Amino acid sequence: MINIGCHLPSSGGFLAMGRHATELGADTFAFFTRNPRGGAAKEIDPKDAEALVTYMKENSFGKLVAHAPYTMNVCAAKEDIRKFSREMLADDLERMQYVPGNYYNFHPGSHVGQGAEAAVVMIADAVNFALKEEHQTTLLLETMAGKGSEVGRNFEEIRAIIDRIELSDKVGVCFDTCHTWDGGYDVRDDLDGVLREFDEVIGIDRLKAVHLNDSKNDRDTHKDRHEVIGSGFLGEDGIRRAVTHPLLQGKPFILETPNEDPGYKKEIALIREWMIK
Ligand code: FE
Ligand code: FE
Ligand code: ZN
Repeated sequence: MINIGCHLPSSGGFLAMGRHATELGADTFAFFTRNPRGGAAKEIDPKDAEALVTYMKENSFGKLVAHAPYTMNVCAAKEDIRKFSREMLADDLERMQYVPGNYYNFHPGSHVGQGAEAAVVMIADAVNFALKEEHQTTLLLETMAGKGSEVGRNFEEIRAIIDRIELSDKVGVCFDTCHTWDGGYDVRDDLDGVLREFDEVIGIDRLKAVHLNDSKNDRDTHKDRHEVIGSGFLGEDGIRRAVTHPLLQGKPFILETPNEDPGYKKEIALIREWMIK
């Protein structure tokens, strides 16, 4: 069993997202905590958040996988962007307190010429600044495709970040199938080997959630262009192996495929056919 869902618009509030998920056949979902390309956050209505928590319980939802805005780069070269990003991270973790017990996923960042080693220190510093003992959210670092100067392009970089985080028991990893494939890992034909390597380098217990995407590009191309399920290089077989892999059971799987609602509905139904009941 896995939980399956997709990325949903947050404009209608929390409970509306829960209902939207149900309409699509989903039992988890992802959402941006604020405008993904801007940064402004809407005021949270505590009653609406509470209503979602109840709704999720009543409908046996898995954990949610909230997503940080794309503008967040805690290892930017410019001090003001770093500071703004760090504060956004801290504020988002406070906001997540309204829907406790879920996941908050963020891109480690782009080092923009400073080198991954320097960036790893900045990323861990930002997490140490933002993450507090009282937070009830698990912070997830997303595995990245290594486009441009993205950090988190391999398991070693993710491990190096986690090693420097003080409250590391509150930190996990979101495994993006398109990104790891584009990053050079053979997710399609050797998922066993990839997850073994993940276990050796990071520890499989850290793997908390999956971004389930096909890829428009071949392995090791560092492109990060998602494809609908079955139409890309991972193909139906590759995606199906991920959905049914013993080490990935019990986790929320989030589709970030280029779809509108009908496409998501179809993909969710397809995954439900494949998944181990
Ligand atoms: Fe992402
Ligand atoms: Fe992703
Ligand atoms: Zn991506």
